[in-house]
Parts: sequence; structure tokens; C-alpha cells
Amino acid sequence: MPKPAEGNVRIKKRIFIGLLTASIALIVLMLLTGIFIYLNKFGNWYRYILLLIVAFLSIFIFIVSIGLTGVVMTLWHVKTFFGLQDLMNVSINILFPIALALGEMLHIPRDIIKSSYIEVNNKLTQSRVFNIDPARILILAPHCLQKWDCPYKVTADVSNCHHCGRCDIDRLWKLSKQKGVNLAVVTGGTLARKMVVEHKPRAIVAIACERDLTEGILDTNPLPVIGVLNIRPEGPCKNTCVDVDRVSEAVDFFLSGKTSREIGRSLEKFEKCQRIGH
Ligand code: SF4
Repeated sequence: MPKPAEGNVRIKKRIFIGLLTASIALIVLMLLTGIFIYLNKFGNWYRYILLLIVAFLSIFIFIVSIGLTGVVMTLWHVKTFFGLQDLMNVSINILFPIALALGEMLHIPRDIIKSSYIEVNNKLTQSRVFNIDPARILILAPHCLQKWDCPYKVTADVSNCHHCGRCDIDRLWKLSKQKGVNLAVVTGGTLARKMVVEHKPRAIVAIACERDLTEGILDTNPLPVIGVLNIRPEGPCKNTCVDVDRVSEAVDFFLSGKTSREIGRSLEKFEKCQRIGH
């Protein structure tokens, strides 16, 4: 079931940042344990192996801490800091699985952590300045946006849509024509990767559920991606919809660097979607 996402973006971002910080704390704890064992238990050459591990962990913590500080500073000031972009990406990618595992131990639902990660990713992307040729921007949309009983195969070619207006594929197609950007409708990660290879975009606006968006963003790193969560009034993978205004905003941002509002799920759109029985 969809959740009212617009709710509190700030809290959502805090979940992911909090888990990243906790991950570093966990590694520091391991490090201190290592030092304790080194000082108390081991003798001879074991000490040197342990010393090497401690040194490696110390360097690792130092580097990811700088990256994480860059993430927090960027989110705080909404601009990129000290050219730390690559380090921030690397830190998030390394710490993400640890944060996910920690979140599970704390009984935080995976979807909430992933949606928090998507918000953080969007904010980091929006802290940069873009001015991309429309032909190098790709909107990646999931197949489940199409009405389940529509007979036209839009995954092969979006222009197969007959524009009956029953689903958001029609609106996305019009948006792509109006802005001059590419649109691909994909059935999953494999086809999405194929489309990325074919189109060679410089930026992607990706529409999907928490799981697919998270995997897609991590997969395409360091390509800038703005993720827009789909809305699921009938549950996952069937007759979903999307806030096309948000997609349009994300495209505008890549085209002109215009600062857009928070990208995420829209509560109003969700309610509208339910009202008209999408
Ligand atoms: S707008 Fe109509 S024709 Fe186009 S994909 Fe949706 S249901 Fe099919």
C-alpha cells in the first residue's frame, strides 16, 4: 500500500543519515574492540596483523566520515561542498548496506530506509548545477504505470501508446515530446540497464518503487539520477501512477539547473489518484 510520502521529508532524510552515522559508530566500536584486544590479549606477530587491521579501519573511518560530513553539509546548505561529490557517493555506497542491516535490526521497514535514501540522493543531485541537452536526458518509467488491460506494447516503443488517457504513460509521452527528452518504459532492472546503455544519458529521471529506485540509483552511480516514487493505489506492480508534475520539475532541473521543490511522492496526487480510481 502507498504511504503518505510528502509527510515529512526532513524526518525521512534523517532516518538515512542517522543510520549512516550509526554505521560509522559501529565500525568505531569494532575498532576500539580491536585496540583493546591488541593491548590485552595478543602477543608476537598477531599483534602486527591486528595493528594493520586497526590502521586500515582507522583510515576507512576517516575517509567515510569526511564523505558523510560532506553529505550533511550539502543537505544543510543545499549546495555541493568542497568538491566532495565523489567521496560522498563512495561513502554512501559503502555505508548503505550497513545502514540497511542496522535499520532492520532496529525494526525500521526497508521501504522507509530506501525512501529516505532516495530523498537524500535527490537532494544531493539538486545541490549541483546542470545544463543538459534535452536529448541526453532520459525518463525511465516502469511498465506497471500502463493500464493492465491495455493491449499496446509500450515497452517495445512508447509511441505505440494510443493516448486514450487512462494511464500516466500518455502524460509522460506528452511531457517527453514537449521537453524534447527521451522516454523509455521498462519491465525491470535488466531492460532499464539496456536503455541506459542505448540512450547514453547524462542524467536520468527515474520513476519506480522504493526497491527498484534504490537499486537503479546505486547501479547507475555516478550518473545523476532524480528518483520519483510511483503511487500504488491498487498495490504494487498494477495500475500504478505518478505525479507527472514532479517528473516535469525534475526534467526542468536537469535542463536548466532550476531549483525544484522536493522530489518524492505527492500526497495530493495520491488522493487524486484514488478519487478517480486510477
Ligand atoms: S494511455 Fe491508454 S493506450 Fe496509452 S498506454 Fe495507457 S492505457 Fe494504453
